[in-house]
Amino acid sequence: MSKVKRVYTFGNKQAEGKADMKNLLGGKGANLAEMNLIGVPVPPGFTITTEVCTEYNQLGKEKVIELIRDEVEKAIVNVERLMKSKFGDSENPCLVSVRSGARASMPGMMDTILNLGLNDEVVEGLAKKTGNPRFAWDSYRRFIQMYGDVVMGLKPESKEAQDPFEEIIDEVKAEKGVENDTDLTRDDLKELVSRFKSAVKEQTGQDFPTDAWEQLWGAVAAVFDSWNNPRADYYRKLNNIPEEWGTAVNVQAMVFGNMGDTSGTGVAFTRDAATGENLFNGEYLINAQGEDVVAGIRTPRQITKEGSERWAVLAQVSEEKRLADYPSLEEQMPEIYRELFDTQRKLETHYRDMQDLEFTIQEGKLWLLQTRNGKRTGASMVKIAIDLLEEGMIDEETALLRIEPNKLDELLHPVFDMEAIQQARVLAKGLPASPGAATGQIVFFADEAEEWVGTGKQVVLVRVETSPEDLRGMNVAKGILTARGGMTSHAAVVARGMGKCCVSGAGKLKIDYKARTMTVDGQVFKEGDWISLNGSTGEVYEGKIATMDPSLSGDFGKLMDLADKHTRMSVRTNADTPKDSKVARNFGARGIGLCRTEHMFFEGDRITAMREMILAADEKGRRKALEKLLPIQREDFEGIFEAMHDLPVTIRLLDPPLHEFVPHEEENQQEMARDMGITVEEIRAKVEELHEFNPMLGHRGCRLGITYPEISEMQARAIIEAALNLKKKGIRTLPEIMIPLIGTHQEFKIQEDIIRNTAEKVFEERGDRIEYLVGTMIEIPRAALTADKIAERAEFFSFGTNDLTQMGFGYSRDDSGKFLPVYINKGILKYDPFQVLDQEGIGQLVEMGTKKGRSTRPDLKVGICGEHGGEPSSVEFCHRVGMNYVSCSPYRVPIARIAAAQAAIKDKQ
Ligand code: PEP
Ligand code: MG
Repeated sequence: MSKVKRVYTFGNKQAEGKADMKNLLGGKGANLAEMNLIGVPVPPGFTITTEVCTEYNQLGKEKVIELIRDEVEKAIVNVERLMKSKFGDSENPCLVSVRSGARASMPGMMDTILNLGLNDEVVEGLAKKTGNPRFAWDSYRRFIQMYGDVVMGLKPESKEAQDPFEEIIDEVKAEKGVENDTDLTRDDLKELVSRFKSAVKEQTGQDFPTDAWEQLWGAVAAVFDSWNNPRADYYRKLNNIPEEWGTAVNVQAMVFGNMGDTSGTGVAFTRDAATGENLFNGEYLINAQGEDVVAGIRTPRQITKEGSERWAVLAQVSEEKRLADYPSLEEQMPEIYRELFDTQRKLETHYRDMQDLEFTIQEGKLWLLQTRNGKRTGASMVKIAIDLLEEGMIDEETALLRIEPNKLDELLHPVFDMEAIQQARVLAKGLPASPGAATGQIVFFADEAEEWVGTGKQVVLVRVETSPEDLRGMNVAKGILTARGGMTSHAAVVARGMGKCCVSGAGKLKIDYKARTMTVDGQVFKEGDWISLNGSTGEVYEGKIATMDPSLSGDFGKLMDLADKHTRMSVRTNADTPKDSKVARNFGARGIGLCRTEHMFFEGDRITAMREMILAADEKGRRKALEKLLPIQREDFEGIFEAMHDLPVTIRLLDPPLHEFVPHEEENQQEMARDMGITVEEIRAKVEELHEFNPMLGHRGCRLGITYPEISEMQARAIIEAALNLKKKGIRTLPEIMIPLIGTHQEFKIQEDIIRNTAEKVFEERGDRIEYLVGTMIEIPRAALTADKIAERAEFFSFGTNDLTQMGFGYSRDDSGKFLPVYINKGILKYDPFQVLDQEGIGQLVEMGTKKGRSTRPDLKVGICGEHGGEPSSVEFCHRVGMNYVSCSPYRVPIARIAAAQAAIKDKQ
C-alpha cells in the first residue's frame, strides 16, 4: 500500500501541489503552490492537507501529530534550507506563520498565528540578527498575544469585557504616558511580554510554551479546532459549505513588513471589487504587519497614484497633504510598485479572473503571501465576466459559469445607500425572504397601509404573519416584516412575486395589534415610527435609511443574451397580473408558468362576489355569484394574455381552501355582514362550517372543482372567452389550463371534461376557435407515482414542488418554521427543503413523474412552478431530469436564466 501524503511543500519556484488541488490543499495552499510554479516570490513553507483535518476530528491531536510528524519535520528542514536559518534556533532563528485555508475562502472565520518560534532567547537572537531590537520585541509580544488567545484561550470574559491583552497594553501605555502603540520603546515591549506571560499563567494555569515545536503543534491543532468554532460554523451554514470539507493548515516562513521604513504590507485587487472597473487598486502601510492594514488603527495608503488621488478627493485631503502624509506606493517605492504591478498582471492572466492579493515588503524585497479569486459585488461580477470575455481572456461558457446566479438579485432591487447603512443600528434579524432594501413608517394593518400610502406616506407593513387578505396592503408597502413564517410563508412568496423587500419570521418581535406597537428587546416602536429592512440579509434596522434604485448596465443585457444562447430550458414566470407579467417579460420570461387565479379574487369588490358564492346555499346561488365574477376574470385574463402575447400562459383553476376568503376577525365579519345585508351569525356559522383541521390537506385544489363544478366551468369560460376576444384584436394567445392538486387520473378526467365541454360551448357561441392545452400540477406524491396514467389525458405537467415537498416530507408549509431551523442546526437537513429542492427524496418523485409521464406521452411538456423554479441548484436538477422549462417569480427570472444556461454548459462538459 502506498503511503498517504499528508504534507506538501513549496518554495523557491518549486511546489509539490498546484492550483487544481484545492480540495486537498485548500484554496490558499493550492495557490501558494501555484504561485511558486509560475515564478512569483512566495516565502517557503508547506501545507498540511484538509484530509488531516478530518483525521484530527476523528483521532484527536496526539495521534494526528504522530501521523504527520515525519513529514512536517522534513518540510521544516526544507524551509530552513531555503531561508538559511533554523527553526527554534537562538542565533539564527527562522520564524513561521500558521494559517488556516479551506477549499472555499472563509475570510476571517478561522485562526491565524504569526511570528511562531519565539521565546526569551530567540527574541534576542532575532534582535541581533536584524539589528532591530524594538522590532524583535514587538514581534514577540504580538506572538504571545495571538497564541495566548487562539491556542491557550485567554479571551475576554464577557462580551462587554475588554480583551485581556489590550487591557495590559493600555495599562503600560498609561504608566508610560504614551498614546500610540508605536510610541512604546523596546523596554516597554519587554515589560508587555512579561505581563502577558504572567496573565496567561494566572488565568490558564499553564506556562507559555518556550519550545518551538511545542508551539507549532499547538498552533496546528488550534487551526484545525477553529474549523469548528461557532463563527466558522455559522459562516459555513450561511454559504452552504459542507462541514466535512475541513481546513488545511499552511505553515510558512515569516517575512516582516515591520522592519522599518523600507518594509511594509498591503492588500490589493487586480480590478475594482465593488464596480468591476479594470483598475489595479489596494492599500498598504509602511512598517506594519498584516493585521494593521485591516485593523483600522492607522489610515492605510493607496497603492496606485490614481487610486490615491481619487481617495484624496473623497477624504477631502489636499494634494500637498496627500503627497506628504499619504503617498501612494507607486510614488513612495516606484521599483517595488513596478514589480507588484507586473506580478498582479501575471496572476490575473494566469488565473483568468480578478485576484485579491496579500503582499509584504521586507527591507525592499517584495513577497506575495496569498492570491485568490476576489470576492465581489453583483455589479462587479457581471462587469468583470463580460470584460474578461471581451478581452479574450475567457470564453462564453466560462463567462457564464463565473456568475453566481443569486448575486444578480442585488442588481434587481433597490439598495441601501452605502454610507447610510454603516451608521444604522440592527434591531433584529429574520429570514431574508425577498431581497431589496426598504425603509418606511410602521403600519400594522393592510387597509391602513393603503390609506397611509394614499396620503403620500411610505410604509413598512408589520404583521405577525400575513394572509391573502393583506395583499393590497403588501402591494403598496415598501417592505413587509413578519414575526412568524418561513421562506415559503405567504408573505415571502407574495413579496418575492412582487419583487418587494420582505423579512419574515423575525421571532424577536413582539407585535401587539391592540396597542399598535412592536417591541424588540424591550424597546417599543409605535405605529408611524421609521424602520428599514434588508431583504437580502434579513436585517431589520432602526430608523429611516436612504435607498437608491439599481441601474442595469449594458453588460447585464449582454450576459442575458449569452445565457439564452447556451441554454436548453426556457424560463417562465409565476405572475397573476399584467404588471407582473410585463416586468417578467422585460427580464426575459418566455411565458407564464403559473397564474394563481385566487389572487385575483381579493381585490376591490371581487372579494364580495367571491364571498357571495361561498355563502350561497345551493348551486343556483353559486352560479349567480359566479356570473358576477366571470367578466372580472375574463378581463384579468385578457390583460395577462395581452402582456404575454405569442407566449404560453398557464392558468391554474382555483386552488386554496375557501376559508381563506372569509374574514375571521369579529370586526371584519361585521363589516361583511353590513356589505352583504345578512347577519353576523350567518357569517359566523359559515366560517365554522368551512373550518378544517388540516386545510392544506382538506377541501382545496381540484376537490373544489369536483364538488362545485360550476367554479371550474366559470373559470374555463373566462379563459376561453378572453383568448377569443384577443384573437379578434389580432393578438395571439397560447392558453394552458392547469388543474391543481390532482391525485388520481379520474379527478383529472372529470375536470378535463368540464373544461373541454365548456370550451366547445364557447366556440360554438362565438363561431370561432383557438388552440389550448389542458394539463395538471403534479404536487401530490400519488400523482407522481401514477403519472403514466395521468399523462394519458394531461397535455402538460407542472411540478408544484411547494406542495410536493410538503406532502412528500409530511412537513406543513405553514408550521415548519418551528422545527426546520433546529433540523438544519442539528444537521438532519442541509437546507430548508422549501427553498432548495430535496433532490435525494422529493427529486425522485419529480424524476419518476417526468419519466412515467413521458412513457405514455413522449412529447409531454414538463415544467416546475414551485418556489424551487428560481433556485439555482434546483434549476440545475430540473435541467438534468429533462424539463422543458422552469417558472419563478418575475424578479428571479434572470437568476433562473443564468442557472439554466449553467446547467446546460455543465451537462456538455
Ligand atoms: C406548489 O405547490 O408548488 C405551487 C406552485 O402551488 P402553491 O404554492 O400555490 O400551492
Ligand atoms: Mg400547490
